[in-house]
Amino acid sequence: MTVTDLAPTHDIARLRARYRAFMEEHIYPNEEAIGREDDEAHALVESLRERAKSEGFWAPHLPPEAGGTGSGFLAYAHLNEEIGRSTWAQYVFGCQAPDAGNGEILHMFGTPDQKERFLAPLVAGEVRSFFSMTEPEVPGSDPTTLRTRAVRDGDDWVIDGHKWFSSGADGAAFGIVMAVTDPDAAPHARATQILVPADTPGVDVVRPVPVMGHAGRGWSTHCEVRYTGVRVPVANTLGAEGAGFMIAQKRLGPGRIHHVMRWLGQMQRAFELMCRYSLEREAFGSPLAEKQTVQNWIADSAAEIQACRLMTLDAAHKIDAGDEARVEVSIIKFYAARVLNEVIDRAIQVHGARGLTDETPLATMSMMARGGRIYDGPDEVHRMVVARRILKAFRSGEGWSFS
Ligand SMILES: Cc1cc2nc3c(=O)[nH]c(=O)nc-3n(C[C@H](O)[C@H](O)[C@H](O)COP(=O)(O)OP(=O)(O)OC[C@H]3O[C@@H](n4cnc5c(N)ncnc54)[C@H](O)[C@@H]3O)c2cc1C
Repeated sequence: MTVTDLAPTHDIARLRARYRAFMEEHIYPNEEAIGREDDEAHALVESLRERAKSEGFWAPHLPPEAGGTGSGFLAYAHLNEEIGRSTWAQYVFGCQAPDAGNGEILHMFGTPDQKERFLAPLVAGEVRSFFSMTEPEVPGSDPTTLRTRAVRDGDDWVIDGHKWFSSGADGAAFGIVMAVTDPDAAPHARATQILVPADTPGVDVVRPVPVMGHAGRGWSTHCEVRYTGVRVPVANTLGAEGAGFMIAQKRLGPGRIHHVMRWLGQMQRAFELMCRYSLEREAFGSPLAEKQTVQNWIADSAAEIQACRLMTLDAAHKIDAGDEARVEVSIIKFYAARVLNEVIDRAIQVHGARGLTDETPLATMSMMARGGRIYDGPDEVHRMVVARRILKAFRSGEGWSFS
């Protein structure tokens, strides 16, 4: 692999320019209005989604056979350097978490009937979904400890459990619920993923859990959900019984790199704001850009952003070639999450008090960025995964090569 292999093709470069134009015309000028998350914002977002669809920008994470407009991970990484710049754009383009990941596993593991009932309306943007795995009572980092149970009763599953951080559950049409179906099986064969329509009796979306002061609305919520005697047909099992962890891995791998791709857009935007403001703002007789501390922040950020870009493009390229790139994805997940938070924090610092206001997008970006070090696996767990894999290779005498 050479760096040239990671460059966008001519077509992707042109498509990226079209995404940029859409962002400039329709997203940035409306960000403040969308961020109010009121009825007007909802109507505005819906109209932008229709426009995105009609202009051929819909679902760029999925291939055409799954209802999207995508052409692989590398291409999607390049597009996300535009899409990721605004918190709201992923929703406008129909590639938002958690629906994107849910769409992918439905595409991979769904039966024809599940694809018709759940995947088709999801990809068309007619409904939203949620992924319900994390529970308040046990560590999400170690999901073999999950307590939610699904018990067979004739042709039904009966689900009882308590989840939280089910993102987007407010107003969603269905969820994919991870439940223990065989507590006596080996730890990674105990759980199953089950499709649960949100209007099934016993599903209670208790509340959006406010995250750093933000309760959100609809897609932007992280909800507490209780399942009490929830009865769904066994035909709603996604993939094989006991395959919950395997499918979760299939979902989380691409999901993690999708997050990192969006962060590339966020970091670059914060970086640009930092550079521009440092040239504009003067203190103690000279622009901030002439202070060495600020120059160090700019130089460090430039180096770290470029490292994140190249590592992300490399992982995307490997995934397109059929490799799961698990070590690469774990490395960028913890590394880019730190860079994202640090670059945004430096940009806020350069802006002084203004950086904490809504006069720039930085405060919202900072609030959203912090979760990146926790969701889809905390930094510490990804470091553990990386170190274990590398040490295993050394133990076997193989060693580790940076390819
Ligand atoms: C914004 C956001 C959105 C989310 N969306 C969803 C969603 O849609 N669906 C869903 O099911 N879940 C979701 N989650 C939950 C997320 O996946 C979990 O928070 C995550 O898996 C960590 O689990 P936990 O919060 O229970 O932390 P715990 O597992 O309790 O861990 C707490 C801390 O312990 C430390 N730790 C854990 N293991 C180790 C280790 N091996 N070595 C060293 N330190 C360790 C880490 O610092 C970690 O942060 C979301 C979370 C956030 C913040």
